[in-house]
Formats: sequence, structure tokens, C-alpha cells
Amino acid sequence: MKTTLANMAKGSPQHTIIWEIGKLISDMSMSPASSIAPYNATGLVRALEKQIGDILVIRRQNDIHEFFSVLVNHLATESASRYMFKNCSPVSSDDLTIRNLDKSCMDAWERFHKIDYTPLVDSVFGQNIVQIQCGNAKCHSITHNYEPFMAIEVPVPVHAADLPTDDNTIPDAARCISNYMTENSIINSVGSEREWKCDSCNECHVSKRTTKIWRCPRTLIVCLKRFTMNKNARGGLELKKVSSMININRSINLEIGNHVINPSMKTKYALCGVACHSGTTYGGHYYSLVRKGQTWYFIDDNDVQTITRFEEFHYRDAYMFFYNVMAQK
Ligand SMILES: [Zn+2]
Repeated sequence: MKTTLANMAKGSPQHTIIWEIGKLISDMSMSPASSIAPYNATGLVRALEKQIGDILVIRRQNDIHEFFSVLVNHLATESASRYMFKNCSPVSSDDLTIRNLDKSCMDAWERFHKIDYTPLVDSVFGQNIVQIQCGNAKCHSITHNYEPFMAIEVPVPVHAADLPTDDNTIPDAARCISNYMTENSIINSVGSEREWKCDSCNECHVSKRTTKIWRCPRTLIVCLKRFTMNKNARGGLELKKVSSMININRSINLEIGNHVINPSMKTKYALCGVACHSGTTYGGHYYSLVRKGQTWYFIDDNDVQTITRFEEFHYRDAYMFFYNVMAQK
């Protein structure tokens, strides 16, 4: 993703966000120090305030997942005029169902990305096939949606009882992904079952949805849903942080047929970074764990240290995982 951003920055107009990101990447690569002074980022902060300040208040605490989404979407708009839309090659398969799915997914991909296409699309966006089965016993019709995603947003088990098995081991990111991909009821923002309106019978019923991946991105981003809306004692809604312990997988192998439908995808990923959030919903601090080659670093403002014992970190803080696809299938 860093290479993609650096390439996009080349030839971009000065003081746009992507130009400032390119300059920051260049300054950081050339500096012999383990951290750079905040004034190196003032140009980027100014560009962010100017370009996306109407969506996010840049100098206040923001949610990193929301910030990342707004930034990627803005970069698409800012840089899209310099790029031509590029779709993938069709999947080679003897299976007619796969070829039909490929056609539907490619059409949906083009509709979504044609206007705002940049190389970042191929880097961080994937595509899900979401299947919804109508909960009306007289209907049960099945609907498919082909949805792009920038991050897989997976629920975090709050208690051991939320896990699909009865063991009490600490869940990991891979298990959260598997849970998210099994058949689940459609829920609302506070986690209750929500009725879904079916186009076939035109009725609203509690219905099931199953999510599978069709297109795997080069950088798979997994975001834990640590911030959820809950009903408080007075019946109002309150944003809460779920601080459940999560083990960090150094690699993830998505299974063709189980997690991924498209048989031509590369599905093995290696962890390259973790964005961590300490604190509560109302005040907290971000730090990160970043891999360079085989060495892991703990980066907390200007405190940069080599990690010798990865297992000792506070996995209650792990919030977003960044996995790079591995070369082999
Ligand atoms: Zn129906």
C-alpha cells in the first residue's frame, strides 16, 4: 500500500493530500532517525483540513477506521482523473456457476469503481457476495448482492458464551472472520435482529445473511467492531467499547470454498501492521505494531522499539489488522 501511495503521489499537483503523503513517506524513508518531528507533517495536516475538514475535525480525536475510509475515498476522487478504470481478467473455470458469479461481480465492480478508479482500488478493496434468504416461511427467496469492501468489519465476542464452540480459549482474528462469514441474522446498530424487506414477497421478516469473499484485496484490512451502540439503563443509546482480548494471527489463510468463492484468488496473508487503541470511547490513544522485513516494531508517537516478545502486547487494544497477500497461492 505504501508503494501504491508513493507512486500515486508522483506527478500529482503540489499540496494535494496525496502529494503531501508522498512527501511524508519520502522524508520518513530518508531520515536516519527512528521518528520524525511533528512539523514534518504540518503540510499534510493543512491539506487534510482543507480537503476533508468538512467531514472530519482533523485536530480532534478521530476513529482510525473512519479516518482511513474517508481518506481512501477522498484520494479516489482527488486522483481518479489521472487513471483509467481497469477490471480484472475473467476467471477461467469449467463451472458455469463460477463464470456467472464472475460476470455479476465484475459488472458490480465496474459500477462501483469506474468513476473513481485509482491503483488504490486494487490495493485495498475487496468484494463480498452477500446472500440473504427471506425469513418469510412462504417465500424463502434468495437475493445476492455483490458489495465492495475496504475493511472486513468483524464483531468481537463479548463473552466466551458468544463463541460458536464451548471452549474458553481467547478468540483470534481468523475466528472472528469465520464467525462473521457464517449464516447470521441481519441485525441493527444495537445488535438486535432487524426485519428485512424482501423484493419477491414484498414483506418484512427477520432474515438470514451469509457473507463470502469473491475478490481478495492485496492488503486485507480487518477491523474489529470494538465500538458498538448499546441501550443504557434509561433506554437511550450509548457508544461502548468492547475490550475483549483477541489473539493476533501473524498469518491468515482464507479457505477457498469456505471463506472465498472465487477459485483463482490468492488467499494466504501475512500480518504487516496492527493499529491499536488504548482507553475508552471518550478518550484514548493510538499506537501501532509494524513489521519491516522480519522485524516487528512498537510505534507510540516518538517511542519506537523493536519487539522481541510479540506475545506480551495488550491484545485488548488491537483494533485494525493489516495483512499483505503472500506470493504463493
Ligand atoms: Zn420473501
